[in-house]
Amino acid sequence: MTLLKSFKDLDYSEALESDKEAHEWLKLNDHRFGQLINGKFISNKKSKLIASLNPSNGKLLANIEIASSEQLDLAVEAARKAQPSWELLGGHGRAKILYALARLLQKHSRLISVLETLDNGKPIRESRDIDIPLAIRHFYHHAGWAQLQGKEFSSYQSIGVVAQIVPWNFPLLMLSWKIAPALAMGNTIVFKAAEQTPISAMFFAHLCEQAGVPPGVVNMINGDGNIGAELAAHKGVDKVAFTGSTAVGQSIRKSTAGQGKKLTLELGGKSAFIVFEDADLDAAVEGLVDSIWFNQGEVCCAGSRLLVQAEVAEDLHLRIKERIKQLRLGSPLDKSIDLGSLVSKTQFNRVNEMVKDGLKHGGEIYQACDIESEGNLYPPTLITNIDSSHPLAQEEIFGPVLVSMTFRTQSEAVELANNSRYGLAASIWSENINRTMDVAPKIKAGVVWINCHNQFDASCGFGGVKESGFGREGGKEGLYEYLKPNGLKSSKKTTAALITKNPKNNAIDRTLKFYIGGKQVRPDGGHSIATFNADGSHAAFVGAGNRKDVRNAVSAASKASSWGSQSGHGRAQIIYFLAENLSVRESEWIQRLITLCGVSKKQAKAEFDESISRLFSYAAWADKYDGAVHSAPYRGITMALPEPIGILAQIAPEELPLLTSISLIAPAIAMGNRVVLIPSERFPSVALELVQTIETSDVPAGVVNIVSGNKRELAEQIVGHAEVDGTWCWADQETIASIEAISAIDLKRLWVHEDSDRDWLNPDQGESLEFLRNATEVKNIWTPYGD
Ligand code: NAD
Repeated sequence: MTLLKSFKDLDYSEALESDKEAHEWLKLNDHRFGQLINGKFISNKKSKLIASLNPSNGKLLANIEIASSEQLDLAVEAARKAQPSWELLGGHGRAKILYALARLLQKHSRLISVLETLDNGKPIRESRDIDIPLAIRHFYHHAGWAQLQGKEFSSYQSIGVVAQIVPWNFPLLMLSWKIAPALAMGNTIVFKAAEQTPISAMFFAHLCEQAGVPPGVVNMINGDGNIGAELAAHKGVDKVAFTGSTAVGQSIRKSTAGQGKKLTLELGGKSAFIVFEDADLDAAVEGLVDSIWFNQGEVCCAGSRLLVQAEVAEDLHLRIKERIKQLRLGSPLDKSIDLGSLVSKTQFNRVNEMVKDGLKHGGEIYQACDIESEGNLYPPTLITNIDSSHPLAQEEIFGPVLVSMTFRTQSEAVELANNSRYGLAASIWSENINRTMDVAPKIKAGVVWINCHNQFDASCGFGGVKESGFGREGGKEGLYEYLKPNGLKSSKKTTAALITKNPKNNAIDRTLKFYIGGKQVRPDGGHSIATFNADGSHAAFVGAGNRKDVRNAVSAASKASSWGSQSGHGRAQIIYFLAENLSVRESEWIQRLITLCGVSKKQAKAEFDESISRLFSYAAWADKYDGAVHSAPYRGITMALPEPIGILAQIAPEELPLLTSISLIAPAIAMGNRVVLIPSERFPSVALELVQTIETSDVPAGVVNIVSGNKRELAEQIVGHAEVDGTWCWADQETIASIEAISAIDLKRLWVHEDSDRDWLNPDQGESLEFLRNATEVKNIWTPYGD
C-alpha cells in the first residue's frame, strides 16, 4: 500500500522495510501470547482473547490472552517472592543484568523496530531511529544507576512490588521508562502493556530470560483496562506507575486511595508551541513537524497548541501549509514516509469525530490531502481562527491536528500557554535568549524546550504538573519514584499529654486566633475549641476553622506569589531571622512544652534545640538546593530546575508540636512555597503561638497561614480547593484515604503519612532532603546551541 497524497515532485516509489523476520517470529509463537509469570510463559486455551491487529491493513498479528484474576494473583505473588533476593543481589549484580538487556535489545533492534511498526502503525523510520534507540539508552543509563545505587542512594531502599501500566503510543519506549529504573533500584515488577500494542513487550519478555533476569523479577500480564484496574488496586502491590489518559489516572487515584501505595501518574497533555515574532520561522516549522506530526501526533507532549505572535501569524500559517503539502503518508514500513497509520480504527474515528464536532464551534481547517480511512491514515491538519475556549484548543486530540491561536504580548503568550488543565510540556521559539529564559520558568509544565520540541533522554526527567499527573521518569529524580527512605520508624513520642476528660477549672481565658495573610483573625463561624495542658488544666481556646477560613487562608497564600521568585539568599535570611527570634524565647517555650505536653525539661529542651537547628538547616538549604545540568547526547544543555510547588497545604502530625510545625513550614518556605498549616489537633496552640515569632521575622504576609480546628474536615476542604497545588499530610488512615479520593478530581500532588511514621528528633528522618524534594517539582529546560 502506498498512499502518496500530495506532493507530485516527490512521487517516487515505496522503500519498504522487510517484515519477513517479524512475521517468522510471530509464527514461531503461533500468533498467540499469554502471560509471563515467575519466569515462565503461561498460556490458557480457555482465556478470552484480544486481537492485536496491524492498523495499516487490519490483518491479525497475534491473539493476546487476557489474564485472569488468578493469573494476576500469581504474578503479584511471584514478584513478592522474588523481591528480597533481587534487592540483595546488590547494585552491581543488577547493573550487569540491565546491561545485558540493553545489549540484547541492541542486537535485535531491527526486528523490534519492525514489530513495533507493525503493531502500532508508526513509521519505521521513527521506530528504528527514535523509539528503539531511546529504549536501549534507557537500559544502559539505568545499568549505570544500579551500579551507583549503593553510594548515591545509601539512605534509601527499594519499594517492593511495583505495578506498571503503559499506553500504546510508544510501547517499548514506555516499557523501558518503567522497567529500567524500577529494576535498577531493586524492585520487582508486574507489567501490563496496552491491549492494542503488546507485541514488543512480549518480545522483551523473551529477552528477560536470556539476560538472566531471575524468575519472578519481571512478570507481564496482558489484557485491557479491566485487568489494568485490578492490577492497580491489587493489595499485594506497593507502588503503581501509570502512563495513560487523565481519566484513567483519576480512576486509579480513587481506587488506590487509602491503600498506602506510592503512585506516579504520567497523563495527557495539550502542550503549547509558542512562536515569537523574532523566531526563526523556518526552524519553527520544522519544529512543528517534529512536534505534532511526529508519531501521527499520538504523543502526550505533542505541541498541539500553536501560539503565534500576531505580527508573524499569517506568514507562519502559509509556511506551515506549504510544509504540510510535502509530508508523505503511507505504509508504516515505507522508509520514506513521514506519517503512518493511527493506532487503530477506534482512534482514527475518535480523531475524525473530534475534529468534525469541534469545527461546529467555528474555526478553519487546512488539510493538504484527503482523509483515508483505509489504513487509518489521517492527514496533517492545521486549524486556525479559534480562541482558547474552543474545545479543540482545550481537549487532547491525540492525532496529527495542530490548532493555532495568536497573541500580542509576551505576558499574553504565558497566560495563554498556562490556560489549560494540563501542564506536561511546552516549547518556546525565539532567537532572543533573554526572552526564552524569562518565559521558560513562567510556563506551568514539567518540560520546556527552547527552539526544539520532543527531545527526550534517559538522563533527563520527564513528567507533568496539574492534570498531566505527578512524578518524573528519567533523570536522577525519576529514581526516587522507585525508592523509599531507609528504616522510618515510629517516633519516640515525647509528647505525653492527652486531653483529659475532667479538666481542672483554673483557666485564664486565652483565645488564640488564626493567622491569615499576616494578620491574626477570628474564626468565621465564631466557634472556639478548648485545649488543655498535660495536667488537665485549661490551656487556651483556639478557633474552629470552617470552609470559609480555609478559603481565606488559600486566598492570602495566593496573593503572596512573589515569595517564589525571591532569591534563595533572601529566603534564607528570613528563616535565619525566624531562628534567632525563636531562640530568644527559649525558656518561655521550654516551660510551655513542659506544661502543655507533660514532658520533662530535658525532653522539652531537646525539642526546642532541634527546632532551632532545623530552621538553620533549611535556611542553609534555601540557596543550596540546586538543580542539575544533564549531559544528554545532543548539542545543548538541559537544565533541571527545582521549582516550588506553589501553595502547599500542610496537615501536621500530632506529636512534638513545636518541632513538627517547624519541620513542615521551614523546608516548604525555604523552597519558595506558601503554606497553609492545619496544626496538630491535640496541641494547636503551639503553632498559633509561633505566630508571634513569625510576625517579628519579616516573613511576608500570606507566606505562612495557620487555621486550626477539626483536622479531617479541614484536610478534606483544603485538598478539594482548586488553588492548592499540593498537600503534605500526617494523619490517621481514614483521613488519608479520604483526601486521596478527593485529590482524584484535579490530581493534586500528595505526600501522605500515617501519624508517627518517623522519629522527628532524629535529623536523618525529620529533616532529610526528602522534604526538599517534596517541596519542589523539577522542570527540565532543554536549550540546544549551534547551527
Ligand atoms: P488509557 O488511559 O486508555 O490506557 C492506558 C493503559 O491503561 C492501557 O494499558 C490500558 O489497558 C490501561 N487501562 C485502561 N483503563 C484502566 C483502568 N481503569 N485502570 C488501570 N489501567 C487501565 O490511555 P491510551 O488511550 O492507551 O493512551 C493515550 C493517553 O496516554 C493519552 O492521554 C496520552 O497523553 C497519555 N500518555 C501520557 C504520557 C506521559 O508520559 N505523560 C506518555 C504517553 C501517553
